[in-house]
Amino acid sequence: MASGSGGSFAGRAYSRAERVCGHLPVVLNTVLVFSITGEVSYLVLVGAPLEADQARTSWVGWWKAVHLLAQYFMLANICWNASLFVKTSPTIRGVFLGGEGMVQGWRYCYTCESHTPPRCSHCYDCKVCVLRRDHHCVFFGQCVGFRNYRYFLCCLLFMWSGLLYAVVMNAEVFMVILKEGVTPHSVLLLLVPWIMLVSGQVSPRAFAFAFIADTCVVGLLLVSAFLFFHVLLLLRGQTTREWYSSRRPYSQGPLGNLRHGLGSRWFLCWLSPLIPSPLPGDGIHFQVTGSLDPAVAGS
Ligand SMILES: [Zn+2]
Ligand SMILES: [Zn+2]
Repeated sequence: MASGSGGSFAGRAYSRAERVCGHLPVVLNTVLVFSITGEVSYLVLVGAPLEADQARTSWVGWWKAVHLLAQYFMLANICWNASLFVKTSPTIRGVFLGGEGMVQGWRYCYTCESHTPPRCSHCYDCKVCVLRRDHHCVFFGQCVGFRNYRYFLCCLLFMWSGLLYAVVMNAEVFMVILKEGVTPHSVLLLLVPWIMLVSGQVSPRAFAFAFIADTCVVGLLLVSAFLFFHVLLLLRGQTTREWYSSRRPYSQGPLGNLRHGLGSRWFLCWLSPLIPSPLPGDGIHFQVTGSLDPAVAGS
């Protein structure tokens, strides 16, 4: 009895730890996004990147307002799209799939015990089949599929524009650091601000600015690669899985692919998640325009 309750306690503790770890990337991302926004707002409003006496000439009020407006527009879009991305389920749960189990492209998922349509595949993290599955996003613990693709892509787009903006704004921080010349101190502060902080060679304030500026540069490089890849896939009408198997059987041409990925208002919907943009398909039936066989497609 004692070992039984101990075992269930260990099991509960493990599942609790698993849940907490599952939320860790979201928490970390949120902290980073808000820290970067806070820092660039501070740069606009106060200036003085590293030491208090280094205040630069102040900007005029309306120019500061334009900057703040742009920053919070991007922040709102990142948060809103991210929350809709997580909330919009792309799975087959609650979807009437019809009785077309024998049609070409349909498969049977033994885990979900259901016939599943083309482009649908099982996610072992979400433990369910996902319609037009692209990939499982580890940062949000959610699959990218037919219904939430738009929110995923728009969130990525605004993360990219926000980081690009933050890097440009932080150019001032880099310039202030390098003003003392390319000395070992300035280079170390740029590359490894943590070590400089621990060894007591910089003030916590200088560390915070150097750390955020570094994070923006690394983040921009990562997000740029990711955004470029996904925009390419969107235009090609491919999912990540189809790209890996070099198949492109459902492409509708670049414009058609944009419409099928982002909805009928694809040219406008990226401005705000509030703009409705209904998707033309149902995520179950797809028009085949090329070869379904990777071997034939490759030859
Ligand atoms: Zn399944
Ligand atoms: Zn998943």
